[in-house]
Amino acid sequence: MEQRPETKKKPRGKARVIEGKCIACGARCQMSCPVDAIEMNEKEEPIILEDKCIGCKKCVKQCPVGAIEIFFTPEEEALLKEIGAEGGAAEEAEAEEDEAGEDGAESNIALWSGVWVYVEQFEGKVHVVSWELLGKGRILADDLGVELAAFVLGDNIKHLADEAFAHGADKVYVMESALLKHYRTNSYLHGTVGLVNKYKPEIVLMGATGLGRDLAGAVATDLKTGLTADCTQLNIDKKMRILEQTRPAFGGNIMATILTETRRPQMASVRPHVMPMPEFNADKKGELIEEPFTLSEEQIPSKVVEIIKAAQETSVNISGASILVSGGRGMQTKENFARLQEFADQIGGVVAGSRCAFDEGWIEHPRQVGQTGKTVHPKLYIACGISGAIQHLVGMQDADHIIAINSDKTAPIFEVAHLGIVGDVMEIIPALSDKLKQTNAKPVE
Ligand SMILES: Cc1cc2nc3c(=O)[nH]c(=O)nc-3n(C[C@H](O)[C@H](O)[C@H](O)COP(=O)(O)OP(=O)(O)OC[C@H]3O[C@@H](n4cnc5c(N)ncnc54)[C@H](O)[C@@H]3O)c2cc1C
Repeated sequence: MEQRPETKKKPRGKARVIEGKCIACGARCQMSCPVDAIEMNEKEEPIILEDKCIGCKKCVKQCPVGAIEIFFTPEEEALLKEIGAEGGAAEEAEAEEDEAGEDGAESNIALWSGVWVYVEQFEGKVHVVSWELLGKGRILADDLGVELAAFVLGDNIKHLADEAFAHGADKVYVMESALLKHYRTNSYLHGTVGLVNKYKPEIVLMGATGLGRDLAGAVATDLKTGLTADCTQLNIDKKMRILEQTRPAFGGNIMATILTETRRPQMASVRPHVMPMPEFNADKKGELIEEPFTLSEEQIPSKVVEIIKAAQETSVNISGASILVSGGRGMQTKENFARLQEFADQIGGVVAGSRCAFDEGWIEHPRQVGQTGKTVHPKLYIACGISGAIQHLVGMQDADHIIAINSDKTAPIFEVAHLGIVGDVMEIIPALSDKLKQTNAKPVE
């Protein structure tokens, strides 16, 4: 029988806490330990029981601030050196396997740093949501004390870097290629995943547009990380250095805050007009980093045969309007919406409505505000006969000024309103209209 050569087993070491680094995050390391080798002291910091620890590194990977490391005894170190000198691909493979974790997807989250925003462009024109996200990204990056970067893929798009700097980016990663002229999931996925794996940003934000939804889902799947779609708020928990991603859940009945605790990057998408536009500073400059696109046309399975632009979109754009006069079920009839239109024309506003108004056939869907409609951020939002259900509020609560007219003084809309009028909307709106006519007031330009 053939004698197998004796193999030396690579020592795994033991975990230990690096003094002064633990932030008492809530015993995540303890929960991750498969052999109960971690106890917590009165300060909620871990004590590692050396005799029980098997050096599996799970706590090391779980720790959000890199406060746990693996150490070796001098004998183990000598053995490691010996094995290292003997070399061998098998050892390297084992080391890689250890690093990757059991499912091959876990990563050392302490290595990931920076906030990235995807700059979505079509024929060189940037979607406004990208600049809005740079505004939010600036706040998140400042809270973390890290860089804010934008990344853009396409053909002939290098000039967009200056716009990204002016909207707050410190760095812009540009991937230019004729093969990226038109969006295709496979090619943009390949480019984005390549950039993310190389530079390891801890947060990646994308617009919840048709394109952004497609790309974000594909990227998150490929990177085996979490993605929270359609966030309405993004904040940093400074103690844990983690992104709090808030969005409506369970049909909009609760606001859920979602964390991506053990994977990186933390990915979130946000709909257009949810976040305010940042200031534009044309003097702001930054660092431009160009990266090559490495696929050939033959390696991209989808082909763009023809681009057919959608027929003229409805002329109504409630998302960009600065004054919205919005009606709900309290308007009672379609005819009453004509009075709202008259009033809106007088003050230079646009008519919008709640989902009930849409369901009743009083407004078209592009005018619906809320979770299943549009998110709006006007200077003035006048809510007429709208109760203020959470699904409606998520679409309009960030308006600069909210005036609510409702006959029920307990209606939830008054909780977000800056000015509330309790009364019959069909008395108040015509009265306001008449007053404006008498004073010959002109609409806001
Ligand atoms: C998954 C899901 C998604 C949804 N998405 C959306 C969405 O995108 N947008 C949306 O709006 N809703 C959405 N909804 C529906 C939402 O839950 C509410 O049902 C809806 O917003 C209520 O519309 P409303 O305020 O017009 O009607 P109501 O809730 O019926 O309120 C009518 C209000 O008018 C007041 N009123 C009545 N008569 C008068 C009067 N004469 N003068 C003054 N006030 C008067 C009443 O006091 C009442 O407060 C969604 C629901 C679900 C489950």
